Amino acid sequence: MIYFVGAGPGATDLITVRGAKLIAQAGMIIYAGSLVNPALLEGAKPGCEIHDSASLTLEEVIALMREGAARYETVVRLHTGDPSLYGAIREQMDALGALELEYEAVPGVSSFLAAAAALKKEYTLPGVSQTVIVSRLAGRTPVPEGEALEALASHGASMALFLSSGMLEELSERLIAGGYAPETPAAIVYKASWPDEKHIVGTVGDLPKMGGVLGVKSTALVLVGGFLDGPYDRSKLYDPGFSHGFRSGKD
Ligand code: SAH
Repeated sequence: MIYFVGAGPGATDLITVRGAKLIAQAGMIIYAGSLVNPALLEGAKPGCEIHDSASLTLEEVIALMREGAARYETVVRLHTGDPSLYGAIREQMDALGALELEYEAVPGVSSFLAAAAALKKEYTLPGVSQTVIVSRLAGRTPVPEGEALEALASHGASMALFLSSGMLEELSERLIAGGYAPETPAAIVYKASWPDEKHIVGTVGDLPKMGGVLGVKSTALVLVGGFLDGPYDRSKLYDPGFSHGFRSGKD
């Protein structure tokens, strides 16, 4: 069986128990070397074949998986964060399907969740936003027209932007053009949960300056929205006056 495993955001104890067990029993591990923390590979058993996919094409990765599946009971394809976000797993799954090779996916802690933890923030604050938009600026991969950053920004929701920290001028301009006030809180979080994690909090208008101060261009997320700073409403769930299935209100 081939498993697409979410490695989590970086810290070696932020992989799931299931993911860690699969690493320990794998005969072959193919990991995305550009972002997966190599320390996770220390959990592999002696003799495990380990390949870094950073320099491989899709075809080469599939060929390796095919060999691995013939030789071993467990093959692990290790992707950073959660594999369902910007993981390019679908094309691998379809290629394996065409070869009639079996596969399963194991979720992971996405970096946008580790970034909220790093900042000790909640994306879904009552009175601020009940929606999280996960998106990116176009790079080599285009973004569909209907998902242009301006259109997404018009909702004023909490946002987590991947793969865009090298384009902070454009990001700032387009977020403002879409409707965020320049003073809307924004943060850049670099390597959330890694030992060298760092972050900076400021405003949408100041994003380019903040990037300069932080001094990073990649492996960072840009978070945007009132959830980062400012007022919010108390939750109804824990309000003494509010009844629900598990508790009666006091008045
Ligand atoms: N599947 C991954 C995302 C892969 S795309 C996930 O769920 O997190 C790669 C992008 O993710 C990077 O360019 C960066 O924007 C972000 N990223 C990955 N790990 C990160 C981390 N530990 N801290 C901040 N951003 C990270």
